[in-house]
Order: sequence, then C-alpha cells, then structure tokens
Amino acid sequence: MSTAIEIRNLSKSFPCCKALQDVSLDIDCGEMVALIGASGSGKSTLLRHIAGFIPADRGQVSVLNRLVQQGGKMAPNIRSLRAEIGFVFQQFNLVSRLPVITNVLTGILYRTRLWRSLLMRFSVGERQQAMEALVAVGIEQSAWQRAATLSGGQQQRAALARCLVQGAKVILADEPIASLDPESSRKVMELLASMNRDRGCTVVVSLHQVEFALKYCPRTVALHRGAVVYDGPSAALTPALLGELYGSAAEELFGRMLDSPAPKAHTPVTRLPPLAA
Ligand code: ADP
Ligand code: MG
Repeated sequence: MSTAIEIRNLSKSFPCCKALQDVSLDIDCGEMVALIGASGSGKSTLLRHIAGFIPADRGQVSVLNRLVQQGGKMAPNIRSLRAEIGFVFQQFNLVSRLPVITNVLTGILYRTRLWRSLLMRFSVGERQQAMEALVAVGIEQSAWQRAATLSGGQQQRAALARCLVQGAKVILADEPIASLDPESSRKVMELLASMNRDRGCTVVVSLHQVEFALKYCPRTVALHRGAVVYDGPSAALTPALLGELYGSAAEELFGRMLDSPAPKAHTPVTRLPPLAA
C-alpha cells in the first residue's frame, strides 16, 4: 500500500502557543481517517500544513510521495501538487454570488492554464463533468441557483462536487459538518465515505463529534495541545480512553457518545503516555 500523506516531526508555534508539537503520521492511500480534538488542539493547523497553505517551523510533509514542505519552506512545485488535494472548509468557501455550477467548475481551475483560469472559460465537456458531479452529490436541481441561496448542507455538497471535478486524490475536510444539522451532517459524511470507498480518495476529516468518527472512519488520530495523543482504530475509542485523553472536557465534547455503550471491538492500539492534568 502506498503512502498518501507522510508527516515527519512537524512543529508550529504561534505567539499564543505551540499549535503543533513534533507531529509524525503516515496515512496510506485509500484510508479514511478522523482527526479529533478539543477546540484549539491544532486540527485546522495540521490540515493546513498538509495542504501546503502555511509553512511549519520545523518538519516535513509529503503528499502522494511528493514534497509539500520541508524545514519551513514550501516545495517549488506546490501549485501542481495542490491540484491533487481537495480542501473542504467548515464554512464551504463558495463564491456566494455565483451559480452553484460555476463554483463547482472552479475545481477545474487547479489544473488548467492561467489564462483560462483568469477568463473562467470552460468547455462543454467540463460543464458536463460539473453537472455529473452535482448529480453525484444530489443537488443538480440547484445548479443555476446562486450559491448563497442554498442551505448549509447543500453548499457543503457543492463543495464536495468541486473536489470531484478537481479530481482530488486526497481530501482534507476541516470540520465539514460543524455548521450542519444532523441529517445534512449524515449526508455529507456519507458522501465523503463514498468518495473514499468508490473513488479511492484518501480522506482526512476533522470532527468535533466522536460518534461520526466511529461510524465513518476506521482510524482516528486525536490531538491534544498540538500533539498526537492517540492513533488507532476508532472502535477502540472507549469513553474511558476519551476521558483519559480529554479529562473534564470529555463529557462536554463527546457527551452523546459517552451516554452510549462502549464499542464491542477492542483491538490493541497505539497508546501514548497519559496526559498531564
Ligand atoms: P482547532 O482546529 O483544533 O480548533 P487550530 O489549529 O485552529 O485548532 O488552533 C490551534 C492553536 O493555534 C489555537 O490556540 C489557535 O488560537 C492558534 N492559531 C491557529 N491559527 C493561528 C494563526 N493564524 N495565528 C495565531 N494563532 C493561531
Ligand atoms: Mg479548527
């Protein structure tokens, strides 16, 4: 199995804090991995470093065996590599005044020539491809509506259609369901799972709700104050372990899951030393 994402000793400090502390991770092609952690634990920062949006202080990131950044410097060919990486934002990042289909077509701009990007000229084949992507995510009836007129769930599905059109092989989704109602959340997670299962995309999705990690992601990586504190099967994330990882915050963060019975499977996991209180 080839490696989709390789992270070595990644560290990043902001004036407030150490946002990432010596993070090393390997994610294989075809995996679907949840990234969990309390607010401020470094989930967004980690995903942005993988996508090559920001340089680290130290360490290295490669995606699909190509260097994204090393020792605080972006790889020179980062633009072409970005075409392989789809990024899904909590707030969708659509251009609200443009029709949904135009937003989806912007996925093509990653792999087109600069002059075509500037003119936003798309071929008939490309428009057809965008329409197929909208059918795949189930919002083709809204293709010509302005993005702003769609519900949050529909806008997030449009953002996923944009990743499909982009042809991204790695999808990084930063709390894609944090602003959505439970039914829309389920649909968006089902779509991410299908992009993983049916299209072979590698998916890393940061989630606040552990119950979604359990349901959709075989593997979970947990962050605490910028450090990886758990990396193993989601099924082994027992309430006891979450309590250990998150202390008194666990109940507030994962209340619903803590109310439900512990998952049956309990395979040996990578366990790191207990956290200081
Ligand atoms: P999460 O996504 O898990 O909520 P973040 O990665 O957004 O966490 O943030 C981790 C820490 O880094 C937080 O303390 C946050 O305030 C800080 N941080 C993130 N981005 C910036 C930034 N651009 N400038 C300054 N501090 C930042
Ligand atoms: Mg975040």
